[in-house]
Amino acid sequence: MATNIYDAIVVGTGAGGGTAMKILCEAGLKVCAINSGPRTNPAKDYRRHRHVYDLKYRGYGNPLRLEGKAHQEPYSVEESEYSEGSDLFEHDVAYSNEPGTDWYWKRCKGTGGKANFWGRSSARFGDIDFKAADLDGFGENWPVDYAEISPWFSKAERYMGVASTIQNRPSNPDGEYLPPMPWRCLDYIIQKGGEKIGVPYLPDRCAQLTTAHNGHPACHYCGNCSRGCDVGSFFSPTWFTIPDAEASKNLTLVTNALVRSVIVDESGMAKGVSYIDRSTKKDVEVYAKVVVLAASCVETAHIMLNSKSSHWPTGIANSSGQLGRNLCDHLYGSPGYGYLPQLLGQPATPDDIADSTVAWMPRWQNLKSPKEEKFIRGYSVYMGGGCGDFPGYYGQIEGFGTKYKRDIKRYYPTSVGALIQAPTLPSPTNYVDIDPEKKDIFGIPQLRFHFQWSQNELLMWEHSKQVMIDLFKAMGGELWGADSEPNRPGTSLHETGVCRFGSDPKTSVTNKWAQTHDVTNLYICDASIFPSCTDKTTTMPIVAFTMRTCDQMLSNFKNGVHKRA
Ligand SMILES: Cc1cc2nc3c(=O)[nH]c(=O)nc-3n(C[C@H](O)[C@H](O)[C@H](O)COP(=O)(O)OP(=O)(O)OC[C@H]3O[C@@H](n4cnc5c(N)ncnc54)[C@H](O)[C@@H]3O)c2cc1C
Ligand code: SF4
Repeated sequence: MATNIYDAIVVGTGAGGGTAMKILCEAGLKVCAINSGPRTNPAKDYRRHRHVYDLKYRGYGNPLRLEGKAHQEPYSVEESEYSEGSDLFEHDVAYSNEPGTDWYWKRCKGTGGKANFWGRSSARFGDIDFKAADLDGFGENWPVDYAEISPWFSKAERYMGVASTIQNRPSNPDGEYLPPMPWRCLDYIIQKGGEKIGVPYLPDRCAQLTTAHNGHPACHYCGNCSRGCDVGSFFSPTWFTIPDAEASKNLTLVTNALVRSVIVDESGMAKGVSYIDRSTKKDVEVYAKVVVLAASCVETAHIMLNSKSSHWPTGIANSSGQLGRNLCDHLYGSPGYGYLPQLLGQPATPDDIADSTVAWMPRWQNLKSPKEEKFIRGYSVYMGGGCGDFPGYYGQIEGFGTKYKRDIKRYYPTSVGALIQAPTLPSPTNYVDIDPEKKDIFGIPQLRFHFQWSQNELLMWEHSKQVMIDLFKAMGGELWGADSEPNRPGTSLHETGVCRFGSDPKTSVTNKWAQTHDVTNLYICDASIFPSCTDKTTTMPIVAFTMRTCDQMLSNFKNGVHKRA
């Protein structure tokens, strides 16, 4: 039987993989996209305006639903009774934590990945991030600068649709924006308080459509975003890149297919991938001229570390020994929460327009000089509040029965809470490797995490708690408290670094085009290439860097570096 060979295989259909397959398919390449889980179906898998009282378990889901699964830990926010039954989240493939590590690895295996449910914050990185090592002497610069990347950020923003304003902040280059999201009453109060203590509070860069955009309807502000958008009014592969790629008729999409490894030819170049068909539990091989890994940061490293051969005894394209190293993350946690007494007695209004924050405090530390603070680099803060579905402040109120309910209602429109987003620095002790003893239920060696917070981000955490004390005072608020410790590592879902890019093949896994130094027909399209973490989120940059990588790959097809199938 003749073997089908594709021009390209793309592993993963999330923000990175979805963008790669759209661009390659639209350029005329025959692409096989392989996705670990099932097809995501908005009509069945999203919230569809149901309320918690419409659901048997009030939104939390059947407590026994994960019984018998290899990885039983439920995931917060995005995994809930709304999508129960669709098997969108990964609970078959377990992972290990080295003693002392408590990494929380949330995975959405449905097509479109985590961006079905993401928070949509979409700020640009700048030279303050790319050249941070030059500024403060720590770590490595990125192999690119802002002038080179800025057109790709524009291209990504124009495609995704990002709402914001021009702000002229030194740490946050401005982009090409749709009109900003409307503000709530509490946003103006926070902004005024922030002004008094020198902390900026500005519209976030939010990939939510404040106007109709590229054939997608304008947002109707139902506030359901983290449970999936019924109409596609924020960027997600499910509504954007996957339909675009399918329209080209050049896409073969294989679902419920868990990639185990990249397979190589006699010269050590990528020949295709081997995956496990979840329904039959059988191994299947697919072949292509080029392989693109976009399985999300740490899973891409997992596949590569498991791709061992005589050419690549420690994992494919790992001659530098950097594969799996330099794992970075955002430290998350609430450095302060409380309420605004001036809003007591205000009627509840439908102001939960984004199911997250519409504004944020972009980095304001270490801007004049890189070492003004006790820590280097800087963090940002999101403020949540308003009339959401659930009164998250319930734990702050004492009592029970009618009085308790009355108090919950009394505080309903008044509560506000902060969320810090503090980048870690690359460290030789933060990395992933393969657990030498444990295999998952499909026989694939498990990924193992080694990760601890270090002093720099913990100093940011302490700093942010003092800022919240000052802010609540300045805005006339009452502070109820702060988290006693940061959230578990991994919570942010913004991990970076395990296949970092760079100019030197001895110290990096890929070149500046995200093409692996060792295996020229193997590319990476996710945040694993980012050599360090910034105070900004990763998804819009994943889309922008993927667009740029695919453009370079297409040039390589044109100039004969890669041959068509
Ligand atoms: C609640 C929430 C809020 C968030 N908020 C923000 C935010 O405000 N801003 C921001 O920038 N980011 C945010 N994120 C993070 C954002 O969603 C991710 O950065 C982004 O989706 C990553 O895209 P990805 O394509 O790299 O990975 P994923 O979305 O994880 O996609 C990976 C894909 O690969 C597939 N896959 C994985 N392993 C395999 C395998 N072995 N074989 C075959 N296929 C495989 C999966 O099925 C999936 O389709 C948030 C995420 C969540 C869940
Ligand atoms: S608020 Fe807007 S983007 Fe969010 S789910 Fe509703 S319509 Fe979609």
